Amino acid sequence: MKDLIKETAKYLVSARHVVALTGAGISVESGIPPFRGEGGLWEKYDPMEFAHINSFMNNPEKVWKIFMGDMKKVLLAATPNDGHLGLARLEALGILKTVITQNVDGLHQLAGNTDVIEFHGNFAWLRCLKCDQRFKTVDIDLSEAPPKCPCGGIFRPECVFFGEMIPPTALTRSQEESSQCDVMLVVGTSALVQPAAYMPVIAHQSGATIVEINPDPTPLTRQISKIFLQGKAGEMMNEILSEVSRLIESKKH
Ligand code: NAD
Ligand code: ZN
Repeated sequence: MKDLIKETAKYLVSARHVVALTGAGISVESGIPPFRGEGGLWEKYDPMEFAHINSFMNNPEKVWKIFMGDMKKVLLAATPNDGHLGLARLEALGILKTVITQNVDGLHQLAGNTDVIEFHGNFAWLRCLKCDQRFKTVDIDLSEAPPKCPCGGIFRPECVFFGEMIPPTALTRSQEESSQCDVMLVVGTSALVQPAAYMPVIAHQSGATIVEINPDPTPLTRQISKIFLQGKAGEMMNEILSEVSRLIESKKH
């Protein structure tokens, strides 16, 4: 493992353009359960019943009550962990340019990353299905299910449900970043949800080195990923950061 961390740090320090692709796994250490994997929400809920746009439209009350009820508690209380903070530190060092995230928790921005592409939107905003006005989630009383706009319309979160399109600018920018980067860090994603899972493939085809961090192997592991750091995002990022700092220091002398 130590050698793999050293190799990763070398790639990062000599890279021209580093991009990170993150998934629910990077927020697990902040107390937000992922969809898949151990303790994942899929063990409790059927995705098609709760995370598909048709289920939401057919019965917003049910989806808000059960699924969103659970998610909002953890999402609104969570704070960045060492995984997010490590990526913010890599940006501050001038190494990391952009984070493409599938998460809707806003933790990368809270950690300090300034260029975050939200592939699946954000739970921080709600939109009225009737008048289309947007409101900050924290300003809305979520004790009522479904929460309602002053106009009487039902609110939906501004995240992308299964069966919905990826916001076009997020998709275009992600594709551009993926084809332009020379190193991509893929952190905490099962790489099963398309089209997000295709971004490392684009990067790989464009000649980038893919470094993957995950406690479990994914379809990318050893096919697309050159380095697989098997472990938790926070712990791995801390090790990478200390090695990167060591390399930067030794270059100064
Ligand atoms: P996923 O739930 O499909 O997979 C999570 C991955 O994280 C798994 O591969 C798991 O092995 C790994 N993991 C678990 N603990 C980890 C840790 N400590 N460090 C690193 N990796 C860890 O997640 P996905 O690939 O992002 O796709 C699911 C979709 O669910 C996303 O598109 C996202 O929109 C949504 N989602 C978001 C959040 C959030 O915003 N935090 C939470 C749950 C689901
Ligand atoms: Zn309204």
